[in-house]
Amino acid sequence: MTAPLPEISSLWMDTAARAPRFPAQAGTTQCDVAIIGGGYTGLSTAHHLTQAGLAPVVLEASRIGWGASGRNGGVVSAKFRISSADIAGTYDLAMARRMAQIANESVELIGELVDTCNIPDAGFMMSGNLKCAHNAVSMDKLRAEQQWLATNMGDTGLRIQSAAEVAEETGSRDFVGGLLNPHGGLIHPLNFVRGLAESVSRAGVPVFEQSPVRAMRRDGERMLLETPSGTVSAKQVVIATNAYSDLTPATVQVQRTLVPFRSALIATEPLTTPAFAKLLATNRSYTETRRMMRWFRRAGDRILFGGRGAFGKADSAAATDALRRKMVAIFPELASVQVTHRWSGLVGMTLDSVPHVGRLDPYVSYAVGYNGAGVAMSTLMGRYLARIVQGETPELGLLWAPHLKKLPFYPVREPAVRMVAGWYQFLDAIGR
Ligand SMILES: Cc1cc2nc3c(=O)[nH]c(=O)nc-3n(C[C@H](O)[C@H](O)[C@H](O)COP(=O)(O)OP(=O)(O)OC[C@H]3O[C@@H](n4cnc5c(N)ncnc54)[C@H](O)[C@@H]3O)c2cc1C
Repeated sequence: MTAPLPEISSLWMDTAARAPRFPAQAGTTQCDVAIIGGGYTGLSTAHHLTQAGLAPVVLEASRIGWGASGRNGGVVSAKFRISSADIAGTYDLAMARRMAQIANESVELIGELVDTCNIPDAGFMMSGNLKCAHNAVSMDKLRAEQQWLATNMGDTGLRIQSAAEVAEETGSRDFVGGLLNPHGGLIHPLNFVRGLAESVSRAGVPVFEQSPVRAMRRDGERMLLETPSGTVSAKQVVIATNAYSDLTPATVQVQRTLVPFRSALIATEPLTTPAFAKLLATNRSYTETRRMMRWFRRAGDRILFGGRGAFGKADSAAATDALRRKMVAIFPELASVQVTHRWSGLVGMTLDSVPHVGRLDPYVSYAVGYNGAGVAMSTLMGRYLARIVQGETPELGLLWAPHLKKLPFYPVREPAVRMVAGWYQFLDAIGR
């Protein structure tokens, strides 16, 4: 990467409370821990390291939150892409319980950080997530999920909703029922990541923007990182670059563990007339049960609608046009409203559907692969990375990756993603 990365245009950029600027790294910087990546993973790691009395620095290739952390949907959820029942079936109940604890801890941490780092404009609300069933088969699966969680995990907080209740909550008649999960909510993602950066900076952590780490190498008992205008010498390095790990060769090892998948969002113009007030009136995050899942939420008086983006490196109008068609299929009253914002970003998928956290060697730790559900989880991994850096091996269930799990089909990952997505779309279309 030689030229500056392009600015992101999104609803979050247009509604952000503040736009803090941080200097580029120059000259020589000494620190305990050099953190590569200025998203939730990196900034949360910096926060927790500072609390432990260590001196980290954060190096961001572009602006804070330029990656997924500043452009995501702001859905805060306690979940993995693999269900608790599947974890229990493949491993055992103890593993499923530990994973559920980790998931719940992730959502709790968001609330804690919003308070302790003083980020009220993150607008965090624990309004819950409503999973909307698109057919009777998926509704049966939601009922089974609710029962399984109550029986095996003691989670009695989930509630089945009838078609009428879902219609009342969402304003859409497209669903046959739903499952309401109170362990989740909504946030303004860019305000949150910028608030974290300001908070760690106030605590004395040097935060550097426009400072891509171009290379890193061992230098005796330390690590030496090169940026365009200087070097950073650190006892330890944390890689927090997730789906953007291919920006420079420095983090290529973790990139080889991920399948990048483009996720896209559209936002409507402000919907101020009373006719629109009944849409998503309960202000939750809403998902649907189709494999090529779409999700939606309110952001003030607008509706946000998200789903699969274009395949490959670049954005495409065709993908966001397709999202608009889906949105109108679910909410026909939105047919004539303007879509004012369209944007996308990369999520890091893993073959085993769970994030990977571990050490590359005694000097370098990493956490990647949030599979599109990383607002809370990446923030939590910062807490655990801070412990790993200090020599601990926390109990992370399936997330702990003692060895780098490289993709066997890395060179053909893009055609493979197209193939799998096409198959899922086909299954959705035939109602399976
Ligand atoms: C469009 C979209 C919608 C999403 N919606 C949701 C959602 O609603 N809910 C949810 O839970 N999750 C969602 N996600 C996923 C979630 O946003 C991510 O899992 C999470 O933000 C990952 O945070 P991170 O800090 O690990 O990575 P990122 O936020 O991507 O940060 C990585 C940073 O590393 C920097 N970087 C890369 N290489 C270098 C280098 N060599 N030197 C310095 N810096 C470097 C990049 O510039 C980038 O800013 C979504 C993702 C996308 C893309």
